[in-house]
Amino acid sequence: MQEILVVGGAGYIGSHMVAELQAAGYDPVVLDDLSSGREDFVGDAELIGGDCGDADLLNDIFSSHKIDAVMHFASSIQVGESVKNPIKYYKNNLINTLTLLNAVVRHDVPDFIFSSSAAVYGEPEYTPVDEQHPCLPLSPYGRSKYFIEQILQDYKKAYGLHYGSLRYFNAAGAHPELPIGEQHEPETHLIPLALQVASGQREYIEIFGSDYDNPDGTCIRDYVHVCDIASAHLKLFDYLKGGGNESVFNLGVGEGYSVMEVIKMVKHVTGQEVEIHYEDRREGDPAILVADGSKAIDQLGWDPEYSDLQTIIEDAWKWEQNR
Ligand code: UDP
Repeated sequence: MQEILVVGGAGYIGSHMVAELQAAGYDPVVLDDLSSGREDFVGDAELIGGDCGDADLLNDIFSSHKIDAVMHFASSIQVGESVKNPIKYYKNNLINTLTLLNAVVRHDVPDFIFSSSAAVYGEPEYTPVDEQHPCLPLSPYGRSKYFIEQILQDYKKAYGLHYGSLRYFNAAGAHPELPIGEQHEPETHLIPLALQVASGQREYIEIFGSDYDNPDGTCIRDYVHVCDIASAHLKLFDYLKGGGNESVFNLGVGEGYSVMEVIKMVKHVTGQEVEIHYEDRREGDPAILVADGSKAIDQLGWDPEYSDLQTIIEDAWKWEQNR
């Protein structure tokens, strides 16, 4: 069985990747410092506790395992926090990733797959956003992802690093069968927060801005089911193994939903009222962020089969009730 190192495999998206890899007959090995991940999220996969910025630990792992690919999910993810505390973001997302990349190159790991973000684009100049769109990230978070993409290009040229970078739009939902799902501390994402209002854990949801130049005035986003994000990694891995040379792919489905539409769907799925409070716009939020995802669909054969809003919210609701 091919061994895949899943860095950050105990986290939200990483744990869905571990499940996807096992279902496809791979042997995932998880490296996670459990700063935000959960031990029980990795199931029966091997879990190595530690930091991907620990060069000695990486050396041990690559010497004791025959790793066929590295998938790198470990990252700090809050845009607002990154503005206030860029050191954390440049340490966790940039320096640690560089240490990991250096080990990948030194140990000749055949393929590297990077979790990038739509945040690399900044304020969209047009929509839907394709991969050719200029990259002008607005936050240290977005810049940390963008800088790594630049470094990956340099490493490809200089060392022949074979890699792919997936620019996620809004990851959401949960595994329909396994006890894994979204859980951030603190939670800042729209869907889990709205579901927590529906389940009575919170009194209300704040809507950040209702004066955007959109039909109902609230921000529009492209929500992608976390299982579809995991399946895209497998497709990309197959593509890279087959010699594919394209490196950057959007992961979005091209369907935009406003904050109000998401809340309406939460009410529909849960059968509960969701109290809303209108607040000012949140800094750094583009009015609309919708992907042109056709490159991943056409070139990787990606099929985002679970990414309709109702399925996403139904699966997230099941997780919210059981976690
Ligand atoms: N949002 C909101 N209230 C919240 C959380 C989010 O109105 O409590 C809005 C946010 O401004 C954005 C959209 O919901 O327009 C999605 O935000 P989220 O944080 O889920 O993802 P992001 O787009 O920031 O990656």
